[in-house]
Amino acid sequence: MKLIFLGPPGAGKGTQAQRIEDAFDIRQLSTGDMLRAAVAAETEIGKQAKDIMARGDLVPDEVVVGIISDRIEEDDCKNGFILDGFPRNVAQAEALDAMLLEKGIALDGVVELAVDPEVLIGRILKRAEESADGPREDDTEEALQHRLRVYEEQTAPVAEFYASKGILKTLDGMQEMDEVTQQIHAVLKEI
Ligand code: AMP
Repeated sequence: MKLIFLGPPGAGKGTQAQRIEDAFDIRQLSTGDMLRAAVAAETEIGKQAKDIMARGDLVPDEVVVGIISDRIEEDDCKNGFILDGFPRNVAQAEALDAMLLEKGIALDGVVELAVDPEVLIGRILKRAEESADGPREDDTEEALQHRLRVYEEQTAPVAEFYASKGILKTLDGMQEMDEVTQQIHAVLKEI
C-alpha cells in the first residue's frame, strides 16, 4: 500500500504513520526525519538544510524530491510506504506524480488529518517538553508560527490537488489518538 499522510505540524501524522507502518509492514518515510539525520551527520544536504529548517522554511524541492525518489526504490519499500511530510507544496506533488509514473507505482490514497490550528502550537510545545531528545531547533514559538504559516500557504493546497484526483480522505485529527488510528484503519479497508 502506497500512502501519503497530510496535516499541519502537530496533527499527529508521525505517530499515526508509525502505527500504520507496524500494522501493514510498510515503511514510514518522513522527509523531516531524513533531513534532521542529514543535519546531524553534517552531510552536504544537511549543511544546506540546517538554517532553512531552523527557521521553519521549506528546503528546496529538488533536494526532497531526490531523497524520496531514491528512498522508495529501496528493498524495504517493496511492500509499500507512507510519505510523512512530503509533498509539502504543489510543485512537489507534481514532481511526485511524474516520479511515480516513471517508476510504474500507483498511489493508493492520501489521508489528511484535519486539526484546528489553534490547538497546534500548544500540542507541539508540549511534545517538545516531553521529548527524550530535547526540543527540536524549530520548536520555538517563532519558528512554529512560521511553520504553520508555511503550511497554510504552501501545503494546504496539496490537499486540494489530491481532492481533485478523488483520492483524498480527510479525517478528524482532533479526536483521541486511538480513535484517529481506528478511523485510518477504516479508511484503509476501503482502499
Ligand atoms: P517535519 O519534521 O515534517 O515537521 O519537517 C521539519 C522541517 O524539515 C520542515 O520545517 C522543513 O524545513 C523541512 N522539510 C521536511 N519535509 C520537507 C519537504 N517535503 N519539503 C521541504 N522541506 C521539508
